[in-house]
Order: sequence, then C-alpha cells, then structure tokens
Amino acid sequence: MTATITRPGTELVLSTTNYGMYIGGEWRQASDGATLEAFDPAHGTELARIADATKSDVDDAVAAARSAFRGWSQTTVQARSKALLEIADLIDKNSQFLATVESLDNGKPIRETSAADIPLAADHFRYFAGCMRADEGAATMIDPNTLNIILREPLGVIGQIVPWNFPFLMAAWKLAPALVAGNTVVFKPSSSTSLSVLELARLIDEAGILPKGVLNVITGSGGKSGEYLQHADVDKLAFTGSTEVGRKIGLAAAEKIIPATLELGGKSANVFFDDADPQTAVNGVAMGILFNQGQVCSAGSRIFIQQSKLDDFMGRLTDSFKKVRIGDPLDPQTEMGAQINQAQLKKILSYVEIGKGEGAEVAVGGQRATEGELAKGVFMEPTLLVGRNDMRVAREEIFGPVGVVIPFKDEDDVVAMANDSVYGLGGGVFSRSLERAIRVATRVRTGRVWVNQYNSFPAGAPFGGYKESGIGRETHKMILDAYQQTKNILVNLSDNPAGFPFAGR
Ligand code: NAD
Repeated sequence: MTATITRPGTELVLSTTNYGMYIGGEWRQASDGATLEAFDPAHGTELARIADATKSDVDDAVAAARSAFRGWSQTTVQARSKALLEIADLIDKNSQFLATVESLDNGKPIRETSAADIPLAADHFRYFAGCMRADEGAATMIDPNTLNIILREPLGVIGQIVPWNFPFLMAAWKLAPALVAGNTVVFKPSSSTSLSVLELARLIDEAGILPKGVLNVITGSGGKSGEYLQHADVDKLAFTGSTEVGRKIGLAAAEKIIPATLELGGKSANVFFDDADPQTAVNGVAMGILFNQGQVCSAGSRIFIQQSKLDDFMGRLTDSFKKVRIGDPLDPQTEMGAQINQAQLKKILSYVEIGKGEGAEVAVGGQRATEGELAKGVFMEPTLLVGRNDMRVAREEIFGPVGVVIPFKDEDDVVAMANDSVYGLGGGVFSRSLERAIRVATRVRTGRVWVNQYNSFPAGAPFGGYKESGIGRETHKMILDAYQQTKNILVNLSDNPAGFPFAGR
C-alpha cells in the first residue's frame, strides 16, 4: 500500500511505509517480524519501517543468489549490459522521485541528490554496461604450438555492504560492476538509509529487468545482519564504510580465503597555496567540508593554508561559511541539510569540544543549528577550527561539517603534514601553478587528488584508498577485475606430445 509523505512544499508517494526485503524476487518481512525506524533527520520524524533481517533471512538471500548464479552467469555480456542500460533509464525516468526519497531519508539537499547522487548513479550503470562490452578477454600464442586463452569468469555470490552517506550512489558503485560481470548479489544498505535502494529494487522488479534472485536486498542493523553476511556462504565481500568495520570484513574474508574490496574512512588534506584563485579556493574549502554536510569519506577535513595568505583566506572563509544556507533538504535553495541522526550530531559536537580542549580556536560555527524549523531536526553549523596536525580533530574522522585549518610554510612542510595520517583517501591542491599542484599531488600518499576542485566523482576516474583508507578502486573499469576470476586454458596445437618424454619413449 502506498503512503503519501507530506513536507513543506513537497508531497512524496512512497511505495509503502512498511518496507520488506527483496529476496529471491519476492518481498518479505524479517522471519521474526522485527523492524527498525527509517528516520527523517531534517524533520525529526519517522518516515517508514524497515525489516531487521535475521540470520535465516540472510541465509535465504544468499541461497537465492546462489541458485540464480548458474543462469545469470551463463547469460551473454550483451544481455547483462542491456539490463544495466535499462536500469539506468529507469533511474533517469524516476530521478525526481528517487532524489526526493534520498533527501528525506538522508537529510542531504535536493540540489545535490537531483544533480549528483541520482544522475551519477545512472551514469555509473551506463559506464559499466559499456566497459564490459569492451572487455573482450585475450588469447595469445606462447610459442607456435601453444595457445594461451585467458578467460574471465564471474566469482559467484557477492555480499555487498554500504554506508549511509551516499546510499544510492554507493549502491550503483557496487551493483553495476558486480552484476554486469555475471555475479549475483546480496546487498545490504545502512539501516539509517535503506529506502532509496529498496525503491530501486521495486522499480527493477516491476520492470522485470533481472531474473529472480540475481539482486537481493536485505535490510537491518550492521551488528546483526551485516555481521551474518560477512560470515555467510558468499564468494566475495565488497564493503564501504568505517575503517573499524572494514577491518572486521577483511579478517572475515581472509578466514574464508575469499577476496574483499574495502572502501574506508579518511582524513584528507586540502591544500591551499598563496597563489590560489581566492574564489576557487573558498569554494574548494566548502566543497571539501560542507558538501553532504561534511559526511563524505574523502572530505577535505584538514585544510592546509599557506601562512602568508592565512589572514586573507580566513577572512574570506569565515564570511562565506556564515552565509551558507542551512535548511530543509527539500528546498532547492538549501546548501546544507541535516546530519544523519542525533548520535552523529552528538559525536560532531563532542569533537568541537575535544578540539577546544586541545587548544584549537573556533573561527566560525561550532554549534548545533537551531533557528526556527531547524530545531526539529539534526542540523549543524558550518564550522572551522584553527589548530595543528597533531590534534585529535586533525587525526580522527569527524564526519561532519567541521574543518581544521592548519597553516604551513612551504611544499615540503605541507607534504610532510599531509602524509602524517593513517588515512590516504582523497585530497586537494589549489594553486595557479599547475607544476606545483601536480608536484604536490604526486608526493601525497593518497588515492585521489583533486586539483583546483574537490569532491567530484565521475565514472571513469578510479576512486579508493591508500593506507587504512582501503583496498581496491571503484568507479573505473579496473574494479571488474575484483568481480571476476581469471581462467587460463593452455592448448597444445601440435600433433606431438608436449613436455618431457616418459615411459622410456
Ligand atoms: P559503518 O562502518 O558504521 O557502516 C557501514 C555499513 O556496515 C552499514 O551498512 C552498517 O550497517 C554495516 N555494518 C556495521 N557494523 C557491521 C558489522 N559488524 N558487520 C558487517 N556490517 C556492519 O559506516 P557508516 O557510519 O555507515 O558510514 C561512514 C563511514 O563510511 C565513514 O568512515 C566513511 O569514511 C566511510 N565511507 C567510505 C567511502 C569510500 O569510498 N572510501 C565512501 C563512503 C563512506
């Protein structure tokens, strides 16, 4: 039964307010009937209920994926590519609906979900539909009598777990390469943000794009269904989330001797040289730490500003941060929406206190935002602390709109500080000198460096971490290697026996 959700200026029709899980092509509740709240963090109310999967639900989903694998892995690449293109078209056709669901469930501004999360997800499906067709395998001659055939085969059943900060986009990053390579999937979104992917599964189901059991979506708490999934009968684990949970997933995979790809946390360095264009720089800081309310794995949370321009940049930054429009995520004018939930807001505020205790100065923000309607939701002021790289606020992931400004002298100084982190996911360099920017980019030990821009995620540009930020690269055709096995067939083409003669011949 559909449900109409009414918010100021918006009416949204969800397919239900009591979401089941999608297992073997059927919708069903948890075997023990347990449910969890889907919370609307901007308006402080319940949006819907989701199922809290039990171990037997997870096992059923894995079994459904296992039995669908034989058929799906035998389909042609053309057929699987076509399915991905149909999914992309479906996303485009329902983009406004999906963007609204995502903004309501997550609290992120509609200007982001409608111009980034949802269209980037559609493009991701198209990208992988294309690169799978272009990947034609290989055969070579080792010598005139030996044909070397290299085949790529799907791995089997993939367990995929994603976080709450980009629920829909992370689903696309995981599902597109896994499915097009011929695998079947058990997918688990975060319990904080399950609705958009459940609605996508419904749309795919209604359109009849995938055979039953190829895509299964289980929902529930990480400590329960996520934990079961890491130990279930899967052939690979693909995880995006915190380094803490990622480490567990990696250990579970090692125990079973199956591969794991891990996209984990970060504390990225966003570096501003004195010759950076001021307007580009100010926007670069904001894109780094305010985009998605700062809840981005690659957030530019350590903001290194060259000493000679510190006062000038700080003046511009504080002015600009004060003007940021915090508001209802569904209002197109809103630049910053709600944090994901109360617990996360509490954590962010506690880090501001930790920073102050360590001697950091609050240059702007630092408080919960409570003006007018904001009091009902979970909003935070855009915040800049001025501190040092050895402070906890510069070492630990805060996951909110709180940047730490750290002055630096020169290139060597900033490279040393940027690399002094257990993480290595994103990073930025702002300078009018491209030579300098690229020099610094090559010296920072991190998986992605943006130059004179920040936090863009186009398909075709590989994304993933060095150090404790993870293992593997997504959003590029190279992830197809992580969703396939290599089979080698060596053929003797001669009429004669190969190898050493035996039995006295
Ligand atoms: P999280 O690690 O708490 O949860 C991620 C997912 O794992 C959720 O679906 C959760 O339910 C599940 N989970 C939790 N405990 C589990 C367990 N014991 N076993 C199996 N699954 C479990 O992370 P979060 O708070 O949802 O997201 C924020 C984190 O994600 C940040 O650290 C951020 O940097 C990271 N992240 C990384 C990337 C990347 O591409 N590197 C992208 C987005 C987010």
